[in-house]
Amino acid sequence: MSDSSRESAPRSTTGPNRRSLLGAALGGCAGLLVLDLRTAAAAAMPRSSTIADTGAWGARAPKATIDVLGHAPSKIVVHHTATPNSTDYSRAHAFALARSVQDHHMDNNGWIDTGQHFTISRGGYATEGRHRSLAAVRDGSRHVVGAHTAGQNRLAVGIENEGTYNSVDPRDTQYTRLVELCARLCRRYGIEPHEIYGHRDFNATDCPGDRLHALLGQLRSDVAAEVGGDPTGVSWPLLRPDDEGEGVRILQYLLNEHGASLTADGIYGLATESAVGDFQRSTGAIVDGLAGNQTWNQAVRERGSGDRGPAVRAVQHRLGTTVDGIFGPNTETVVRSFQSASGISSDGVVRVRTWQALVG
Ligand SMILES: [Zn+2]
Repeated sequence: MSDSSRESAPRSTTGPNRRSLLGAALGGCAGLLVLDLRTAAAAAMPRSSTIADTGAWGARAPKATIDVLGHAPSKIVVHHTATPNSTDYSRAHAFALARSVQDHHMDNNGWIDTGQHFTISRGGYATEGRHRSLAAVRDGSRHVVGAHTAGQNRLAVGIENEGTYNSVDPRDTQYTRLVELCARLCRRYGIEPHEIYGHRDFNATDCPGDRLHALLGQLRSDVAAEVGGDPTGVSWPLLRPDDEGEGVRILQYLLNEHGASLTADGIYGLATESAVGDFQRSTGAIVDGLAGNQTWNQAVRERGSGDRGPAVRAVQHRLGTTVDGIFGPNTETVVRSFQSASGISSDGVVRVRTWQALVG
């Protein structure tokens, strides 16, 4: 599914391709082009954990400066390319795929560079997508703004898996590389295994396919087996018009955090329904006016000492402390107590697990 990120452009699906080993276009995750299957030579298994950087596969220079943020990403989003399930498992094929994706994203989508940070071929070769992604991982405290998941590009690392996984699973070699890459990212960035998602957990898309999406529970467990942490996937209550309560109030504050101006009265009335729809539209989610997984996944933000704004008010209101929108020492104290009482590591920072407990 083409992602309507900040640098989105008209979604043309065809057009001349400079490198042109490729055929017709598919309406895949990022509208990727079909790779030619001419060279189906089997290849040696790639060396574990190697990621070929943009120089290795002959990337074009980006069209504009790559935006690198001075903080680590907090989640990983898994995609499939929705291209054919190639039987060419060679490194040459992986590199050709990386070039074709970049061409498509730059020439057809109008993006500055490849949208995702990393790509894993069906042969199990990992390549860097957007420039500077690999250096950011090595640094451990920087994040390259990508273009892979609308609403999440400043927070999430995007991994594309070559193929289409609606009715078949990825190859074992490819899955193994995915586990390795996720484990590396989790270790390096301090990402929790439960913060591994599929593209459809945020946007209106089938990506990464039913089968790969169904594998994500296993992926979280396999990553947790390597890096530790809690692999249980994140899920949220479905709130709807006429619902009332603290969950609705938190939702209202979070919508305000993203630009709405609701009265946080805890009542899911027409204004809230309309604000949910607007938020869903702005984040590329399914627009239905109901607050379910996509809406919550898009809305919650990590909040800790020194942060300000409506999301902080949500925490304060819910925990019965002064609602001033400033995350100061008192707020941190009540957050720690709440975390202890909820069986969450009491670090005083409101991450997704604490949000889940607050929403109830
Ligand atoms: Zn996707």
